[in-house]
Amino acid sequence: SIEVSGVTKRFGEFVALDDVNLSIPTGELTALLGPSGGGKSTLLRIIAGLESADRGTIMIEGADATRVPARHRNVGFVFQHYAVFKHMTVARNVAFGLQIRAKPAVPFSTTWREDRARINHRVEELLDLVHLSQFAQRLPSQLSGGQRQRMALARALAVEPKVLLLDEPFGALDAKVRKELRDWLRRLHDEVHVTTVFVTHDQEEALEVADRIVVINDGRIEQIGSPDQLYDEPANDFVMGFLGEVT
Ligand code: ATP
Ligand code: MG
Repeated sequence: SIEVSGVTKRFGEFVALDDVNLSIPTGELTALLGPSGGGKSTLLRIIAGLESADRGTIMIEGADATRVPARHRNVGFVFQHYAVFKHMTVARNVAFGLQIRAKPAVPFSTTWREDRARINHRVEELLDLVHLSQFAQRLPSQLSGGQRQRMALARALAVEPKVLLLDEPFGALDAKVRKELRDWLRRLHDEVHVTTVFVTHDQEEALEVADRIVVINDGRIEQIGSPDQLYDEPANDFVMGFLGEVT
């Protein structure tokens, strides 16, 4: 699980997160939903360890992660403006995280060959999972936006993170591709069961995909619940109004 306790974050005088408390059960697909500027990305970045809170703690799978650097938190992330290595093939992009994790070995030695074989096998599995096997040798520039997003997800999954954090993973895509990827994310999650938190400002996306929705506005949590709970019993006027915008 992810436990966020009493997290407050200020940028100068501005309070971006105000005493946020939140518990995300292991294996669930959770949406952070709210209007622009509400604090979704800030909260996700604090969970990832890319930003530090002024107050409060983050526990990941029972361990205090508050002061643990991002690369040691065992989280995979895909952010709004995801970085890809433009000069590397899709396969090598996905292999990247695996290579830096593998122990350095003397080139062409037995260990080196074993590592390579293991990594190649894992990359094949991951590309299969995101339905990109036939594009392994392409460059990212030769993929569509949706395919690139799936590549970024495969790369995040490569290191077998305990937690997968996605900030508007389908943000820049057209409605049709968004819908495809949304369904695909749901299926992927049902297959892999990694604890996943994704940010969206799209009510419909959250309601359709997530097990649990955290509504966040003005740096505060307005409500946490299943899509049905939010719809049937909105905690306040804000939640009612915001969900009411679903067309
Ligand atoms: P969006 O849906 O537009 O991505 P968001 O919910 O992700 O919005 P955040 O990016 O978390 O919002 O920002 C929350 C608030 O904190 C905003 O008002 C933003 O301007 C402010 N903020 C975020 N990062 C910084 C920063 N580095 N310096 C100053 N203010 C910041
Ligand atoms: Mg954001």
